[in-house]
Amino acid sequence: MDMQTSFLDRLFESGLLIDTGVDGLYGRSGQFEDVITAFERLIDKFGGADGAEAMRFPPGMNRALFEKSGYMKSFPQLAGTVHSFCGSELDHMNLLQCMEVGDDWTKGQEATNIVLTPAACYPLYPTIAKRGNLPAKGSLFDLQSYCFRHEPSKDPARQQLFRMREYVCMGTESHVTDFRQRWMDRGVEMMKQLGLEVVIDVANDPFFGRGGKMMVNNQRDQNLKFELLIPITSAAKPTACMSFNYHQDSFGQKWDLNLEDGSVAHTACVGFGLERIALALFHHHGLDVTEWPANVRKTLWG
Ligand code: ATP
Ligand code: MG
Repeated sequence: MDMQTSFLDRLFESGLLIDTGVDGLYGRSGQFEDVITAFERLIDKFGGADGAEAMRFPPGMNRALFEKSGYMKSFPQLAGTVHSFCGSELDHMNLLQCMEVGDDWTKGQEATNIVLTPAACYPLYPTIAKRGNLPAKGSLFDLQSYCFRHEPSKDPARQQLFRMREYVCMGTESHVTDFRQRWMDRGVEMMKQLGLEVVIDVANDPFFGRGGKMMVNNQRDQNLKFELLIPITSAAKPTACMSFNYHQDSFGQKWDLNLEDGSVAHTACVGFGLERIALALFHHHGLDVTEWPANVRKTLWG
């Protein structure tokens, strides 16, 4: 039996996830959302004293800034753009005619200035660059956004629209690598309190094409990305529920982020996959939260 299909089917049957007819695009029940809300409170508890500046962006970002980010060089296969009808009445008639006969009506859609956000931190860097130099002690930001990635899958842990909570740190190399290490330790501790078995491993992003191979090797060799993995749909291939990324000064250079002394800022981010963490909890402790271990319920709901 296909394990992935069966966990997804059980999630549908229980109502925790709601089928929309598109793989990786799901509604969620109140119970599912309640787990995510409780988990975000736990994140606040662990990170709240750090004094991060909270910001919330919508799930779409400025297309020009998306273009500047270089996302299309690295992950063209994952990007989602927002297109709209911008035609005349005649174009509209043709559009309706197209739909009527089952032709491709989307060909006439034109790109808008909005692109779906691929990771919660993308709109942050240009926003902070506009403020001018960063303080010598560095800066810390707290973000959460729906993110889009075109990676349809039957694995309920691989969704096309999902929420990412992120902390982003900007400062000196040691400042941001300390930040990353602190969250790796915290991530392990949080999951322990939730009764979830984790491993941390070095990871890489799926850089596109042959040119991407070099970037994969570089990312792994330099330990730029780590993931906190929890088995959800496969014990052999556990799922990344958090990632810990060190960008060196590449984002600092790209976005012109500088420290008070004029040096280029280093940056790092840690991301929580909120749906994945909820799914890990449902997978390990069962679909009925009233039957979860008392200590896990206490960690989440006091
Ligand atoms: P994966 O290797 O599983 O594709 P990723 O390396 O692409 O994950 P990141 O880009 O580091 O993930 O994103 C931060 C976090 O967002 C991940 O650790 C994960 O928890 C979550 N995430 C990423 N992609 C998805 C997705 N398609 N569905 C649900 N959550 C996701
Ligand atoms: Mg991925």
